[in-house]
Amino acid sequence: MRIDKMLANLGYGSRKEVKGLLKKGAVKINGKLVKDAKEHIDPNEDVVTINGQEVVYKEFIYLMMNKPGGVISATEDNRDETVIDLLEMEDQVYEPFPVGRLDKDTEGLLLITNDGQLSHRLLSPKKHVPKTYFAVIEGEVTEEDIHAFRKGVTLDDGYETKPGELVILKSGIMSDIELTITEGKFHQVKRMFQAVGKRVVYLKRISMGSLKLDETLELGEYRELTVEELEELM
Ligand code: URA
Repeated sequence: MRIDKMLANLGYGSRKEVKGLLKKGAVKINGKLVKDAKEHIDPNEDVVTINGQEVVYKEFIYLMMNKPGGVISATEDNRDETVIDLLEMEDQVYEPFPVGRLDKDTEGLLLITNDGQLSHRLLSPKKHVPKTYFAVIEGEVTEEDIHAFRKGVTLDDGYETKPGELVILKSGIMSDIELTITEGKFHQVKRMFQAVGKRVVYLKRISMGSLKLDETLELGEYRELTVEELEELM
């Protein structure tokens, strides 16, 4: 890979700005001063420094966001802010995308990465990756609903859902629940409750496979996955 491309990819500026850095003599490859932007390097073998600081190359980025409501889980949108707009520029240079979709009004765990293979594995219907949601439901959630979800319910378009595991945390005029499902149909949680005559008034994803939402992240905040989180997810 060309040195200017690598440094631009890592967020050290545009190709032009990186050329400036090289010209100034700020960049060394394996201890040797390099001024030519066309110089080739092996990102896995060569040690690159800028003003003496080692540059760590990585191909992939893995971010966990606590998605806020009002933001679209897509890379681009004509009208609304997207989760990618919430990222620092130095993270956007990796061209990451959200793994799957949460509704605009849904909050919580969203994995954002540029690793297409991991994304594919997590979203593949064959893998049955469990996703757990916390929700506030208008109406009393009952044992009957637990049994109905365990059997599978029929959505408004006739689709029969796979079994879902419902846990009632608090039942009343407003109920708090957790629901674990292994599918990702459009508006699935909302439509499952609709199928039993109830309405979701608040929805937040709290886990996806082995990955759990870091509750210390404020809405809209994000961080890189830890090595342990990533290893478990792979
Ligand atoms: N189910 C929904 O209804 N909405 C989401 O955002 C995620 C799951």
